[in-house]
Amino acid sequence: MQSHKMNHANPGIKCQVQSCYYYMTGDQCTADCIEVLPKDANSTSETDCGTFTKKQ
Ligand code: SF4
Repeated sequence: MQSHKMNHANPGIKCQVQSCYYYMTGDQCTADCIEVLPKDANSTSETDCGTFTKKQ
């Protein structure tokens, strides 16, 4: 899935990952869409954002 950085927050996502390229102050995400993995997760803690990109 190809995500694009918007110039505003995605209102449907709250995220605390401040080291991500898509992160915006206020625990917001500027990606137009995100992908969550893995397929075989059994709990909240086993899921991760696959769209995460390390901020340069
Ligand atoms: S892409 Fe994922 S990790 Fe990055 S800010 Fe958005 S929800 Fe958080």
